[in-house]
Amino acid sequence: MTGRQAPERFDVVISGASFAGLALARALSAAFGARARIAIVDRGEGDGGTSHSDVRAFALSAASRRMLDVLGAWQAVSEFAQPVSSIEITDSSLDAGIRPVLLRYDTQLDDGETSMFIVPATALGRALRSSVTADPCITLIEPADVTSCETDDFGIELILADGRRIAAALAVSAEGRRSRLREAHGIKTVGWNYGQTGIVTTIAHGRPHGGRAVQHFLPGGPFAILPLTSLADTPGGRSCITWSETNEEACRILALDDEAFLLEIDTRVGGKFGTIELAGPRQSWPLSMHLARSYVAPRFAIVGDGAHVVHPIAGQGVNLALRDAAALAEVVAEAQRLGLDIGNVESLKRYERWRRFDSAASAMAFDGLNRIFSNDNSLARAARDFGLGVVERLPRLKAAFVSEAAGLAGELPRLLKGEPV
Ligand SMILES: Cc1cc2nc3c(=O)[nH]c(=O)nc-3n(C[C@H](O)[C@H](O)[C@H](O)COP(=O)(O)OP(=O)(O)OC[C@H]3O[C@@H](n4cnc5c(N)ncnc54)[C@H](O)[C@@H]3O)c2cc1C
Repeated sequence: MTGRQAPERFDVVISGASFAGLALARALSAAFGARARIAIVDRGEGDGGTSHSDVRAFALSAASRRMLDVLGAWQAVSEFAQPVSSIEITDSSLDAGIRPVLLRYDTQLDDGETSMFIVPATALGRALRSSVTADPCITLIEPADVTSCETDDFGIELILADGRRIAAALAVSAEGRRSRLREAHGIKTVGWNYGQTGIVTTIAHGRPHGGRAVQHFLPGGPFAILPLTSLADTPGGRSCITWSETNEEACRILALDDEAFLLEIDTRVGGKFGTIELAGPRQSWPLSMHLARSYVAPRFAIVGDGAHVVHPIAGQGVNLALRDAAALAEVVAEAQRLGLDIGNVESLKRYERWRRFDSAASAMAFDGLNRIFSNDNSLARAARDFGLGVVERLPRLKAAFVSEAAGLAGELPRLLKGEPV
């Protein structure tokens, strides 16, 4: 290596201190024990999920909750986490006099555990960040921009924009959808833009939501009403609106003044929760899907949105990111316990085999759902209404849906079972 400055040395260096990166740092530190040396670097520009102004709220699965609990971050989140009691699905047109619910399911698992919580992105980011800053084995380096990296047989070095170098046995990109380290490794992605924009805001309403989440499939894209915990000044209740529209329609809606914007929301909410008012700013995101062709390279792995960006229709992006972090921490911890090089290629390949198929299957499933539901074709409508009607009548199939939403299907990393790595 040709570093002008002697690099600082760590076991693992992570680029990106948002949900995936922070959770991975904690998981690795807990697994390695008191002698762990983990570095986590972030631009600190607030462009990631832990920005103070992010108005999104995430549907966190039971499996993600278990992981956060083991990592010591759930307690700080729990006060803001609204348990979801039931989910209602409809695809009625907005001018229908009555909007029948096509599918309704209770979200409790057989043992009474809640399968889903709605958690503000800011609360989750803050909790993960506090657990990282309180951990003496983790060094948070920010603001610092990772610009490139160099790898040889003995280690990998990340190079920061100010010339500093950080050396480790393993580097991880948790850099989100535009991952510079993924590009530096020449790893291509496949995917497409949806031509849709995600609009997010918060509303306060006169009637309590009772923990009910609503997913209303409309031709432009899904309109979700996600229940939030109440505040003293919103005794009726608050919900997060997460709504996809075609780019053109979203542009029109985002340009409206508050009164007209609220009217657009009111038409879609359809009086379910009494009188509504805006209780937060509006934000928007372009929606796309992409999958990295590979999740690993020598001494390098990708977790979270850098590996897979999925449509928010099922609210699974953060859950998948946490699952990546749990799986990577598990294979790396195993290598360390066996006295192996923690950047060894077999362990990284095992991580890739574990996570790549699962993420691709999820991305394709959400893509399919978006295609089937985001249109007004009468054949597609008849087919999906029939399909949902069948699910509604089959309790076993419904239970399988709940287990999937709870993140408990498939081969679970230990953290998602609520066990230490
Ligand atoms: C509208 C919308 C609604 C959503 N709703 C849900 C939901 O309900 N449930 C759910 O589970 N998911 C949801 N998601 C998905 C979720 O937001 C993402 O999956 C999640 O943010 C991915 O986290 P991450 O840690 O991988 O990356 P990010 O949150 O994108 O963070 C990347 C971090 O890396 C840092 N970084 C990047 N490059 C560098 C560099 N070169 N040097 C240093 N630092 C760098 C950035 O500053 C940032 O902090 C939604 C997404 C959208 C757009």
